[in-house]
Amino acid sequence: MDRYWQCFACGRVIDDPNLAKTLETAGGGWGLNIPCPKCGSKTSKDKFPGARFRPLFKMMVECSQLERAILVLTLAQTAFESMLDGFLCRLLDNMNCPEDIVLAVTDQVRGISAKARFVKSLTGKDIEKMIGDVGFRDIVEQFETIRKKRNSFLHTAKQEEDLTQDDITMALKFACATVDLYAILFSKYREQRPLIEPDENHPL
Ligand SMILES: [Zn+2]
Repeated sequence: MDRYWQCFACGRVIDDPNLAKTLETAGGGWGLNIPCPKCGSKTSKDKFPGARFRPLFKMMVECSQLERAILVLTLAQTAFESMLDGFLCRLLDNMNCPEDIVLAVTDQVRGISAKARFVKSLTGKDIEKMIGDVGFRDIVEQFETIRKKRNSFLHTAKQEEDLTQDDITMALKFACATVDLYAILFSKYREQRPLIEPDENHPL
């Protein structure tokens, strides 16, 4: 869980056991004065995923211990969608979009298809292709499987026995892969660009 750290200077999410160990033992928080192994900056760093995701993953583990498959599936789906939200925020932030606007916009973009379309409008790229390009093609299919199983449970009011320990294991693996995936996407799509391209020919 605590393998990944995010450098606030270069925006990379770093998977480096030595850095993780140094930051864990440094104390004082934020990893100030500890150089980023990629860019060398000594500015602050934070765990990835950030603090607001921690309760979600903790709850997922607790529900798996209680063998409540439907809850594990629902939380895993939520984790994927929330991290996609985080990715959208990151893309807007890289365009210097003010934070209150980022929140206002992402709050209105609901549902996985709308989020995917928004990613495409910002980057020109298909989210499925982005995911496939970094080697996580299976995750899209797993997301669909989890969504279908969850919906089937909710719509048919079947007994939870229909969901098995295998579904719990699958959902937990999916959640771990989700973190790995977004760590890579955050690192890959971190280029800064202006929200509005300057137009040199503009009369004003
Ligand atoms: Zn860095």
